[in-house]
Amino acid sequence: MKPWLYIHQQIFSRQFSANSLPHAILINGATGSGKLEFAQWLIYLLSCQQPENINNNQENNDQESILQGCGHCKSCLLLNSKTYPDHLNLIADKNSIGVDDIRQANGFLQKTAHLGKFKTVLIEHAQTMTQAAANALLKTLEEPSANSVIILLTNDIEMLLPTIVSRCRVLNIRPNIGQALLQSISGECLKLESSTELNNRFINITQLPELTDITINEAFKNFKECYINLLSGQHVESQLLQQLLNNEHGLRWLEQITVNLLREQFITANEFSNMLALDAELLNNLYKVIINGCKVIKSYTQANKQFVCEQLIMSISDLIEQTKINGQES
Ligand SMILES: [Zn+2]
Repeated sequence: MKPWLYIHQQIFSRQFSANSLPHAILINGATGSGKLEFAQWLIYLLSCQQPENINNNQENNDQESILQGCGHCKSCLLLNSKTYPDHLNLIADKNSIGVDDIRQANGFLQKTAHLGKFKTVLIEHAQTMTQAAANALLKTLEEPSANSVIILLTNDIEMLLPTIVSRCRVLNIRPNIGQALLQSISGECLKLESSTELNNRFINITQLPELTDITINEAFKNFKECYINLLSGQHVESQLLQQLLNNEHGLRWLEQITVNLLREQFITANEFSNMLALDAELLNNLYKVIINGCKVIKSYTQANKQFVCEQLIMSISDLIEQTKINGQES
């Protein structure tokens, strides 16, 4: 279990013991933050016939206990083989969760449990629910059946209907950042050179792809180089546009690199004296247009990505040119 999940395990263990767990839990966190891992732990805990305390053998008695499924009772074994009758896993088919899937879940929850005390439904990628599916789920959330627990996972809570969010207990998973994060995922990480293009100080879990995959890491380095070249006045707009269009991580990288440049400006100005001297106002403006571009792409599922990316690169280019002109004038 990822170390930043312990605190949530403690809270949920306490509520489990007190019989005060919520009927609907929405787990929100970036890819790699451990949402599924946490949901699985909870499903085992709710299903197991004899949950055990994993802190029992530890010397530190101050620590609040964490409970977990025993792993060998009938329920745990059936969960292992994915045949436990009181749990249903809804997985997005064709990239979306339809109304029939939610109706199936509703029907499942209305029946009494076969083996365990609870009936559980796990909905992964909840942000992919269609409007009709979300409305069907809403009814269930408004009138929950006894001893049922619905767990929704999402990496983008803004894509969910506010009425859904307000009826769930929201668990925001916020992983460590910087060195602490690198230490906790050191087993999965690439061996990066000390002068890595990633800025260790501000590294966060959304950067997991480039931390763990050599091909993505190379693509990131190329992307960053190209963007920095653009910022230093070279006309590499079309190259950057191509990288943005061909790489699913491109928009995030654009945002992340800009934010890190901004942070470096404010926090560590002296340490990075060899770095490109960039105008803070320019970076601020760039950040605004990038955030805006990302929002447009997210909010319209049918948004023409090429068009939005072209507009974005043009705006970035205009801002850089404008800064140059202002610099010459002053
Ligand atoms: Zn068990």
